[in-house]
Amino acid sequence: MRNHRRRETGETERAFLAHHNALTALPNRSLLVQKLSRTMAAARTAGRHVGVVSIDLDDFARINDAYGHAEGDSIIHRCAERLTACVRSVDLVSRVGGDEFVVILGDMGSSASAARVVQRMRAALAEPIAIGNASIGVTASFGISSFPDDGGSAEQLLGFADLAMYRAKRSRRGDFACFAPERHDEAVERVRLEHELGEAIQNGELVVHYQPIIDARTNRIGGVEALVRWAHPIEGLKASGTFIPLAEETGLIVPLGEFVLREASRTIAQLNRGGHPGLRLSVNVSARQLHDEAFPTNVLGALAQSGLRTDRLDLEVTEAFLISDAVWAASQLRELTRLGIRIALDDFGSGCSALTFLRRFPVQLLKLDPSFVAEIERSELSRAVAAAIIGAARKLGMRSVATGVETAVAHRVLAELGCDAFQGSYLAPPMTAAELGDYLTADHLAAA
Ligand code: C2E
Ligand code: MG
Repeated sequence: MRNHRRRETGETERAFLAHHNALTALPNRSLLVQKLSRTMAAARTAGRHVGVVSIDLDDFARINDAYGHAEGDSIIHRCAERLTACVRSVDLVSRVGGDEFVVILGDMGSSASAARVVQRMRAALAEPIAIGNASIGVTASFGISSFPDDGGSAEQLLGFADLAMYRAKRSRRGDFACFAPERHDEAVERVRLEHELGEAIQNGELVVHYQPIIDARTNRIGGVEALVRWAHPIEGLKASGTFIPLAEETGLIVPLGEFVLREASRTIAQLNRGGHPGLRLSVNVSARQLHDEAFPTNVLGALAQSGLRTDRLDLEVTEAFLISDAVWAASQLRELTRLGIRIALDDFGSGCSALTFLRRFPVQLLKLDPSFVAEIERSELSRAVAAAIIGAARKLGMRSVATGVETAVAHRVLAELGCDAFQGSYLAPPMTAAELGDYLTADHLAAA
């Protein structure tokens, strides 16, 4: 009898788990679709509206990496409770993925009510959650679709809410967007581009161009920055700006970055062996690549394969990476510098960069952003700020590299301010590997 009851309990539990998520006890996707179809049918009869809200927590992978999976689970649990507290009993909160939730708002007088509920959910998630001695606020991106306005089946309505959520995520973290049919074409275009870019990486359509960096002291080429281009079979050569942001969003930046590192170190190792032994290589790395624990090992592997010495490589990181998780960033950068690699902070002066903040990280180079360099040419105050930054950077043992040097005036002013190196169209544009070889051979500026 007791055994029988246990079996019954087990069966009830299994039936529950078939439609619910074990961690949060929230309905899963299959129950969500069933419930949404029923809610839509009821709304059709009663002339009411239904809202579907797709929610994706921002940077959750990073929270998991930083605090561990147990804390990650507990945060998901808290988020689920908070979302549930924002809705009425006729509504439904479901968990459809690791950090993804979908909420059905049933029986609404108008579709505008959904936006008000989203505002409530945003505020609820932002309330600090304690983790050990620290506390974090969670932001999420929200997408809304509504019935009958957006029409379609339950599956379509869920898809529309997802599309709106992706648009919100692209525009700004913690934002929300409503599905608009005209956006559908844009979303389809994005999916097409993502697919094409994935294929391009595999089919060898990406190429690397190299922009010389001129050393101020010797007035010779000290190194080059590798810049990726897409040699599109129909559209021709595409600039990085047309596909890097999409690669960042989709994670394709990881295989793309690996390709650039391998290809560029092969080119520069060859030039090092062929009469330009001092030439350095600078490669942009995305925060996504740096978050991988195996990144330093992968870099070493690429260098070993190409024959490029570790002390010939600079890796350009962005401030966003340093800020995302300062403790992890510092340890990852320390590991890379231990291998002999130098770290450059890219785009300095474009955000709210602060030199004192940099003391926490092993950064050897500061790349002054083109927007900042342009300001220096225009305003005396900016020149004074630049002089202070370049001076302080030197005191902290860092070299400053001005990028986006477009005119003779900018070049002269930056030299007077004490910049250690220059990069920009006034000095040399990005060029192919073959052009770089010719340029180095022909040019008296060639690296020592
Ligand atoms: P960035 O690292 O700041 O690269 C410098 C950008 O400035 C390049 O644009 C270069 O072509 C451009 N530039 C060169 N001379 C001048 C000039 O005189 N004035 C101005 N205003 N700009 C100049 P590009 O090649 O379009 O690259 C744009 C961005 O894309 C790069 O900015 C970098 O953040 C990213 N990127 C490019 N290649 C890679 C890559 O392999 N991996 C990653 N993660 N990001 C990359
Ligand atoms: Mg760069």
